[in-house]
Amino acid sequence: MNLHEYQAKRIFAQHGVPIPRGEVATTPEEARTIAKELGGRVVVKSQVLTGGRGKAGGVKLAENAEQAAQAASEILGMQIKSFTVRKVLVDEAADIRDEIYLAMLIDRSQRLPMMMASAAGGMDIEQVAAETPEKIIRVHIDPMIGLRSYQSTYVASSMGLPSFSWRQFHQVASGLYSAFQSVDASLAEINPLIISSDGQLLAVDGKLSIDDNAVFRQPELAEMRDVDEETPAEREARHNGLSYIQLDGDIGCMVNGAGLAMATMDVIKLYGGEPANFLDIGGGATTESVSAALKIILSDSNVKAVLFNIFGGIVRGDEVANGIVGALAQIDTDVPMVVRLLGTNAEKGMEILSAANMETAMTLTEAAERAVAAARA
Ligand code: GDP
Ligand code: MN
Repeated sequence: MNLHEYQAKRIFAQHGVPIPRGEVATTPEEARTIAKELGGRVVVKSQVLTGGRGKAGGVKLAENAEQAAQAASEILGMQIKSFTVRKVLVDEAADIRDEIYLAMLIDRSQRLPMMMASAAGGMDIEQVAAETPEKIIRVHIDPMIGLRSYQSTYVASSMGLPSFSWRQFHQVASGLYSAFQSVDASLAEINPLIISSDGQLLAVDGKLSIDDNAVFRQPELAEMRDVDEETPAEREARHNGLSYIQLDGDIGCMVNGAGLAMATMDVIKLYGGEPANFLDIGGGATTESVSAALKIILSDSNVKAVLFNIFGGIVRGDEVANGIVGALAQIDTDVPMVVRLLGTNAEKGMEILSAANMETAMTLTEAAERAVAAARA
């Protein structure tokens, strides 16, 4: 889950990172009022959950309140990548002398948090990594000890920051690390962290990605979720506790367990088909969850066939079968479906499915072959 720039920066500020004064506006009039309060010179910034807003024309400098209103009217409603701009952040403009990149993230290969910095700030960090990897400085952080000042000093001096900034750089880096840790972030990024003309560090941009597996213990952040970020199907899946990712193929799959879902997708591909989605209905397959999952799968108009692959462990085959039959009673569809059911109470389940005239298969191979054939027909 990603937060908007203004949300990220406010959280950074709560942890001691300096940010410009600013407010969010949804109309040009609001932008004018905010700019007036900030003293005129402002930057008007689209709040959408994607990077590269500057290049797309979604960040504009304004010399006065009138220009701020004008900039807001140009940016609001603008389309940036797949997002429509509904809000702008009006920030006091900063005089930029230099732009730095600073981020905290998890280095999975080392299983440690890592600070990453570069003097090539303001640019796309992927581009810096590809073209001038030597400009990226990394230090790992021991989560039991936290970020030490010698680590910040090493990073600051390696970037060529003037020594009078080192102490402030440590404050910013510590604040960013503290924010990163306290919200269970997978990424906390400032790009650019600027050095102003009077030598002060200031976070003019902010990005914060929260680990979805930790959102349950971050209730305040969960409320900040921008539902425009998700497709309707993804939103529906999240509300029903399903893991769903839409793909480009035409065979919808409903599977219990992430590993089994991956294997099912592989076998579909092996038989020349393309999965339309990844869907893990999880442990308890009730009529409600099966029905919600099936509606989500069928909401994708590319779906030409559906393959159920259910392994009954704790979940019982007869319950799943009743779930499928119950769900189909609520849904009007002529998309062909194949069910493969194995494990606890599978035989009972198969009887229920056959009685309801559902097509069943004994093995995954057979089920995949039939689903691929049905999608082609
Ligand atoms: P992004 O393109 O989505 O990453 O948006 P940013 O917030 O990073 O803004 C893009 C660029 O706009 C920055 O790299 C800066 O060069 C510039 N910018 C942002 N805020 C200010 C500001 O207050 N003053 C000035 N002069 N430039 C700014
Ligand atoms: Mn940026």
